[in-house]
Amino acid sequence: MHRIAVIPGDGIGPEVIEQALLVLDKVSSKFGVKFEYIFIDAGGCAIDKYGVPIKDEDLELVKKCEATLLGAVGGPKWDGLPGNLRPEQALLKLRGGLKVYANLRPAVLYDELKDSSPLKKEIVSRGIDILVVRELIGGMYFGPKGREVKNGDEVAYDTEVYSKSEVRRIAKVAFEAARKRRKKVTSVDKANILESSRLWRETVEEVAKDYPDVALNHMYVDNASMQLVKDPSQFDVILTSNMFGDILSDEASMIVGSIGMLASASLGEGRVGLYEPIHGTAPDIAGQDLANPIATILSAAMMLRYSFDMEDAVKAIENAVKIALKEGYRTRDIYTENCKLVGTKQMGKIICENI
Ligand code: NAD
Repeated sequence: MHRIAVIPGDGIGPEVIEQALLVLDKVSSKFGVKFEYIFIDAGGCAIDKYGVPIKDEDLELVKKCEATLLGAVGGPKWDGLPGNLRPEQALLKLRGGLKVYANLRPAVLYDELKDSSPLKKEIVSRGIDILVVRELIGGMYFGPKGREVKNGDEVAYDTEVYSKSEVRRIAKVAFEAARKRRKKVTSVDKANILESSRLWRETVEEVAKDYPDVALNHMYVDNASMQLVKDPSQFDVILTSNMFGDILSDEASMIVGSIGMLASASLGEGRVGLYEPIHGTAPDIAGQDLANPIATILSAAMMLRYSFDMEDAVKAIENAVKIALKEGYRTRDIYTENCKLVGTKQMGKIICENI
């Protein structure tokens, strides 16, 4: 029996979570394992119900579960609220509360989706299989921030702060991951300008000494954003900070077709993890059965891999997704000519049937 906190959230969150739970139910019956779901409100829906993005007692409940599966939070309805009351605060509280410091985002181009990539065929034909390892609970998103009036002018600031120990632990995650892949780490920073990046680079080089079998190169973030569209095949593991990782992983998602395909795992010490698709609540398509559930289904698969060590079930889910794509089923975001257009629910059903 595994206890999972399930946070559907807002917009398309509940729609895609519903399909991921159907997949987990199928895994449960096929692999003889039981899942207990603890449903938690977080994000805009929690603001509407309780006046806060996530209740303290709910955060405590989440911490008692073995893993958390999250849809997405936020939407235009809550955009005007002050910073500390915005739905995104729930994400920061969850990440901070669960102490998940490493965000793993695989960006893989499926052969069947080569036509969905906006990149030229000759670039795509070299293949894309990148793992972005993003530091998640440090840097500018968590550093000192504020507003003040200076010389009669309003000033706002956010501070990028990293300690050596924070960089060391995320660098280790990247090198360990690279060992199981193509043995290459590209560390992305802005060391020509930022002092925090210079500490980042020095520390990554120190950690690299323990991994002589893994090749390391450094890249400035502006160059990395160009190289990702020029020749993404050069990357294996990209190691980067919270803010740079936020931006680069969205770029990586776009070049492999759709943001609706990409899963993520956020890991701390031990087996606790927070699993979520990298997309947001997609208010433009919410409630219309248009959302692609694959990112959330693959996030559930990552949960089975990193929190529950169920590699057979992971392979079964990944294979079921590949079969659905091979058979030509596509939600609207990944649709190309001559494919079979399906909605959120049907895509979930087809994947379940293929497990
Ligand atoms: P978004 O990811 O929600 O949407 C960007 C575009 O991608 C939209 O056109 C949307 O329709 C499409 N899209 C996203 N997911 C899709 C899916 N599964 N299937 C098909 N198409 C999909 O990003 P946004 O528009 O910048 O943000 C919308 C809201 O989501 C905002 O309130 C934002 O704060 C929030 N958000 C939340 C998270 C999170 O909870 N982790 C992450 C990003 C954005």
